[in-house]
Amino acid sequence: PAPSYPMDAPASQALFERAQQVIPGGVNSPVRAFRAVGGTPRFVASAQGPWLTDADGRRYVDLICSWGPMILGHAHPDVLAAVTDAATRGFSFGTPSENEVALAEEIVSRVDPVEEVRLVNSGTEATMTAIRLARGATNRSVVVKFAGCYHGHVDALLAAAGSGIATFGLPDSAGVPASAAAETIVLPYNDVAALEAAFAARGDEIACVITEASPGNMGVVPPLPGFTEALRRVTRAHGALLISDEVMTGFRCSRSGWYGLEGPYDGGAPDLFTFGKVMGGGFPAAAFGGRRDLMALLSPTGPVYQAGTLSGNPVATAAGLATLRGCTDEVYARLDVVSQAIAGGASDALAAAGVPHRVQWAGSMFSVFFRDAPVTSYDDAKAQDTEAFRAFFHAMLSRGVHLPPSAYEAWFVSASHDDAAVEHVLAALPEAARAAAAV
Ligand code: PMP
Repeated sequence: PAPSYPMDAPASQALFERAQQVIPGGVNSPVRAFRAVGGTPRFVASAQGPWLTDADGRRYVDLICSWGPMILGHAHPDVLAAVTDAATRGFSFGTPSENEVALAEEIVSRVDPVEEVRLVNSGTEATMTAIRLARGATNRSVVVKFAGCYHGHVDALLAAAGSGIATFGLPDSAGVPASAAAETIVLPYNDVAALEAAFAARGDEIACVITEASPGNMGVVPPLPGFTEALRRVTRAHGALLISDEVMTGFRCSRSGWYGLEGPYDGGAPDLFTFGKVMGGGFPAAAFGGRRDLMALLSPTGPVYQAGTLSGNPVATAAGLATLRGCTDEVYARLDVVSQAIAGGASDALAAAGVPHRVQWAGSMFSVFFRDAPVTSYDDAKAQDTEAFRAFFHAMLSRGVHLPPSAYEAWFVSASHDDAAVEHVLAALPEAARAAAAV
């Protein structure tokens, strides 16, 4: 059995109380606050490889990996060297620099349909601008999204969103104007009939469909066979664009993201892609890109405006470039091994304890649902036993394994998860599964 920490974490608790005086809810992104699972969020003091060390000096195997970016593990020596080297030459120039070109080339070389990219600072910015570009290109305003998909906190995309919106059971966000929400059509994921009906009713108003390439923000719910092709067929028939959001899946599901696993598609590729997480190597860098004729509509060559003081930041692009260059075939092979071992171990432990569950996959990306039926939509995902997850989460945490604090998230691994880290997770699982069974 894994060693057990006391449930309280005094140094983290003291920081959390301080934080709540000056930061809403004590956190800078809502799911970090442990609201859904209760207890004290662990304030991390340092991280190395697969390990987090919190303010109390306790070590955890990290299964959040910054929600995706840390695919090589924390403070990877090659990335650290690239960042240090870049930082010694200045932090931000406000003029173009070579790393931006190299990172754009790296992305373009990996994802065939992407001919040009523009670098931004977050996935939210990437999807926000991709939508503006789609609206500018089509001269239409309506956006179609799917329930349970999260594309960042863009006004038009917060309706029935996944991630924190799912974790907290919110229908949408206050502060989104009715006019913005009115331009968004939300459809059930994996439902071709609903898609066709929406286009039959309002096809000539729809600028684009945006979808997670393979959703990970309601837990991992891959597209059913033919669903992505149906999106392409229907959008094309009605003159709308298709935006594939690969912020989470990009350069993780394969070297070319989800597109590398499922594409190329018979009916053609998505028009635009969004990227983030892995391509920033843990720094604020993201991108959107696609066909050259569409990207030419962006300022300064075209009429669709977009800009950023820190976009293409030299330190962030150095981190992203070193991370992508580090994403070798061996790295993807290791991600497969680690994710199979951990997901398999979790499934075995939950089965032995009699806890209903289901593991779903997108490449090496996976999540564990606390229900035992296939999950193909947000409604399916919502039917899980979040109380069982909560008990499981805390039992893992007290044994030094930090899962995402939500039943609606993928568990992220890195290539630095060595055998010792995997063994540590496996040792914690049986007790945690029994705790989930006892709910
Ligand atoms: N799209 C997807 C698919 C995401 O998973 C996320 C973040 N979890 C975003 C967009 C938003 O990215 P960011 O948090 O960098 O704004």
